[in-house]
Amino acid sequence: MIKQAFAVAFGLGFAAAALAAGGTAQVDGARIINADSEPGNWLTTARSYSEQRFSPLKRINDGNVAQLGLAWTYRLDVDRGVEATPVVVDGVMYTTGAYSIVYALDAASGALKWKFDPLVPRDTDRDGCCDVGNRGVAVWKGRVYVAAFDGRLFALDAASGRKVWVRDTVIDHKRSYTITGAPRIVKGRVIIGNGGAEFGVRGYVTAYDAASGKQAWRIFLVPGDPSKPPENKMMAMAKSTWSGSYWSTGGGGGGTAWDSMAYDPDLDLLYIGTGNGSSWNRKVRSDGHGDNLFLSSILAVKPETGAYVWHYQTTPGDTWDYTATQSIILAELTINGKSRKVLMQAPKNSFFYVLDRATGELLSAQPYLPTTWASGVDMSTGRPQENAGADWTTGPKLVVPGPLGAHNWQPMSYSPLTGLVYIPAQENAGLYSPANDSTWQHRGVWNIGTQPLSLPEDVKQLQGVISSFKGHLLAWDPVLQKARWTVDYPNIWNGGTLATAGNLVFQGTADGRVVAYAADTGSKLWESPANTGVMAGPMSYEVSGEQYVTFMAGWGGAFPLALGGIAQNAKVMSEARVITFKLGGSATLPPPEHKLAPLPPPPALTADAATVDRGRNLFNGICGVCHGLNAIGGGVLPDLRYLTSEKHLLFNGIVAGAYARKGMPSFSDLLKPDDVDAVHQYLIQRAHDLDAQMKTESTASAH
Ligand code: CA
Repeated sequence: MIKQAFAVAFGLGFAAAALAAGGTAQVDGARIINADSEPGNWLTTARSYSEQRFSPLKRINDGNVAQLGLAWTYRLDVDRGVEATPVVVDGVMYTTGAYSIVYALDAASGALKWKFDPLVPRDTDRDGCCDVGNRGVAVWKGRVYVAAFDGRLFALDAASGRKVWVRDTVIDHKRSYTITGAPRIVKGRVIIGNGGAEFGVRGYVTAYDAASGKQAWRIFLVPGDPSKPPENKMMAMAKSTWSGSYWSTGGGGGGTAWDSMAYDPDLDLLYIGTGNGSSWNRKVRSDGHGDNLFLSSILAVKPETGAYVWHYQTTPGDTWDYTATQSIILAELTINGKSRKVLMQAPKNSFFYVLDRATGELLSAQPYLPTTWASGVDMSTGRPQENAGADWTTGPKLVVPGPLGAHNWQPMSYSPLTGLVYIPAQENAGLYSPANDSTWQHRGVWNIGTQPLSLPEDVKQLQGVISSFKGHLLAWDPVLQKARWTVDYPNIWNGGTLATAGNLVFQGTADGRVVAYAADTGSKLWESPANTGVMAGPMSYEVSGEQYVTFMAGWGGAFPLALGGIAQNAKVMSEARVITFKLGGSATLPPPEHKLAPLPPPPALTADAATVDRGRNLFNGICGVCHGLNAIGGGVLPDLRYLTSEKHLLFNGIVAGAYARKGMPSFSDLLKPDDVDAVHQYLIQRAHDLDAQMKTESTASAH
């Protein structure tokens, strides 16, 4: 079936290539390198190769931002996983929503020019850890490039949205490879990695010729089958840092490059951030020792060949899901009186790294938020000083930060005017409990070497656990290595940031607002409702002399799916929408469409306490990562405590795949019929719990 689809796509590709685009979206390397000379455009996902997410525009500034009003809105098709930063070229906006659907909009009016749906099979939802989001497109020489969730890379005609070519980037469809990141294009090569390290994959990055789609190079990021010789010197270096059964029980080692890249045209170096180990548990994957290169690393390679130049590993032997896939920003900083070409990253592990980007030399590493896994970084060796108490492979440990990270994929920005990095940071902890006998099973099954998460069900106790989760906007000074100012949020998982020459920082929030702060002081200068949690990185552009600021509004991803409902006091329902502002804009945001219906009366519980308890463990181990742990929905996927009587009747069929085309895959491989019954009984119990809680609350509020 899939093979046939590809054959058809190739056939169409040649026809479409003949109708090559004329003047639309003629972006090339010279234009991106000189992006500052055309500040009205936003040519790549982070505006320029240095990925600063800084706009030189200043018509909107700290003196007039209070007059910002809505210019237009555009409703996306799927209300989840909104993670993209739009690209704007010559008055046209190219952006993406869930399931990698691409939209081309008139940037001044929001009118749809074309839409391309790659038709990602909805039953591939199980292959992703963290929702079916997409972080945007690349534009190059009249084409728009999008990497779909199922691993296909598309070249589209920028004028029409028609497919020019498609390539399958996945090397092994028996494993859960997915793509959520934006491709980058350097020297005519479209460069893309993938995700999947929660499931058991071997991470790699591939470059394709932008014109023809021919593969230019592929580099693996962790060693492969130990019975075969390493592919190259880089893999030989990596192999000596691994042992044990990463290939069989780990499922491939991990180290996936699912988000960040940057490029320095003067040094001609491409920088790539890599992810966590597969499984998380180093005992399972590498007998508990070894640095396990190139997990949690920043790699510098040559963009034309993928040849290795240098690496810096932020978390040697990572066992906490501390990816180094977070934003990579290139800048010039004056350190000890000397101008240095640096690379900056605030990975999940809570340390802010400044590296010399020519050599990979560590210049500084200070914690940007409290952390318990390491007390510091030894500047002579570049290695973290790990705390013994953080090793959970011998027994359960509470570690700060947890797998959500002190900073996740929500992009940070840097203003060369203030010299500050604006980090959407978050305090959180993770209780890691080892399952040292866990092993890779098959595609779509988590393999992280931990026990299923367990949380108290008592609402007060639960809020106690989660109350330590706090969000912050940090204005981090990378030279002084401390926060210059901080904005505190009650919730984590706030949006990415944009810095502008108007002395502004823009950010969306988890509680459903979009905000502007003074970039130098952090004072709040403007805010507007967004109806929904906002996660993506905002951007700014100009059309006909008018400056616009765009937010991709929408909720979803790892935290909202698994814990969003627990941590949010007010429910933030996901509504996916592009919202664009300008000075004096007078459009109105439609009222929130998505509200929870009243709780349907739950059916009678028929199982005993032991069965409900078994259902709870199964639910939290298998279902809770998407439908909310303890069955507390996070405003993205259906809250299963609200099942209607009709859905209760259909329950077993839905778990067996009846709604696979709606994004609810079959779980028959993991749940036997009596398991499904136990999960169902647990959900009925939770509906009764919620019913009782609501009655108590309404009685209390009546008094
Ligand atoms: Ca991960």
